[in-house]
Amino acid sequence: MNKPAALTQGSCRDAPILKERGQREVFCGLTGIIWLHRKMQDAFFLVVGSRTCAHLLQSAAGVMIFAEPRFGTAILEEKDLAGLADAHEELDREVGRLLERRPDIKQLFLVGSCPSEVIKIDLSRAAERLTKIHAPHVRVLNYSGSGIETTFTQGEDACLESMVPVLPKTEAAELLLVGALPDVVEDQALKLLDDMGVGPVRVLPAGRADGIPAIGSNTKFALLQPFLGETAAALTRRGAHHIPAPFPFGEEGTTLWLRAIADQFGVDDDTFERVTAAPRARARKAVAAHAADLTGKSIFFFPDSQLELPLARFLTRECGMHALEVGAPYIHKGLVGPDMDLLHAEVISEGQDVDKQLDRCRAARPDLTVCGLGLANPLEAEGLATKWAIELVFTPVHFYEQAGDLAGLFSRPLRRKGLLKMEAA
Ligand code: SF4
Repeated sequence: MNKPAALTQGSCRDAPILKERGQREVFCGLTGIIWLHRKMQDAFFLVVGSRTCAHLLQSAAGVMIFAEPRFGTAILEEKDLAGLADAHEELDREVGRLLERRPDIKQLFLVGSCPSEVIKIDLSRAAERLTKIHAPHVRVLNYSGSGIETTFTQGEDACLESMVPVLPKTEAAELLLVGALPDVVEDQALKLLDDMGVGPVRVLPAGRADGIPAIGSNTKFALLQPFLGETAAALTRRGAHHIPAPFPFGEEGTTLWLRAIADQFGVDDDTFERVTAAPRARARKAVAAHAADLTGKSIFFFPDSQLELPLARFLTRECGMHALEVGAPYIHKGLVGPDMDLLHAEVISEGQDVDKQLDRCRAARPDLTVCGLGLANPLEAEGLATKWAIELVFTPVHFYEQAGDLAGLFSRPLRRKGLLKMEAA
């Protein structure tokens, strides 16, 4: 399956897309709470759901057991599900108790789940009612993280989208960065932009409620994640303008992302070069350290995080890999089009019919398969090296200083497989 790197250049924006609508294997949108609660320091996420939802959160966020948690589950019992109790009254009581005990909470998200959706609890009505009760100290918002409606990264999109209508209005010409990144990575981006003289820069989500950005028709926004389509649409409805660009993965992606912003804010070429030359060189060197393991190797993406197309662009253009199939849950060309312009892949697929896709993967025998946890073990047992898609969301991978780590996430499973082969020989 090894192909020369030269074949990986090209564009797939207008290539035919294989669309599938069958059974899919992904986490639900509740998973986003794990990284969102770390980012938003005075927010609480109250899942209105079942014991299953509570177990998912507890096992995914085990680290929280030593801290005062900022997420929880209001468990729907059988009498709620049978319509024998007034779920709204119980919810009001639970929220009242929580906010009394935790005066540090300034933003409360009521998060819908499969059970709350099935019994049709109107959480937007609940959020409005609870905001009236607890304003101005706490703002209550709602979104759905249900597995019926969302894949795991869509939870962040739904959460940020719910914040857009209540953002204050401004006529100031500002840049808004959209997406929850670890603070250390966000700081790197802010420093690069500041060094170029771009500003003022705001971030959604802000770390605290008193830092929430204002928006208006003079706001230009750049996305940090490719899965924020609904948030981008909501910002556009409020008059803000999207800056389209490849996503900031790897040296090339980061440079093109910064360049697109720099062009909008009138940064001259000399300044851009002065600010980016050193980190670009560091990123190239760090990626090159993994290139020997990646060049000429083939990769197959199952749809999971919506990061697939930008990551395939990085792996094919900067690491010399060959993309056999790049599957994404949804393809929003308004967001990932600039990445698709730079990508060549044999197959681009949207949605999933997991059995058919497994057949294609087995037939292709890729050197590396990126997939969910449920598919990884069986594929490993069949001798295929895999990478868990969820790690790509939990690991800092954006911008220049993380480019080497990003390449390392893909080279490690290949190196491990090589070592195992040597031991077995
Ligand atoms: Fe399961 Fe649905 Fe709860 Fe997610 S929201 S944990 S898919 S029951």
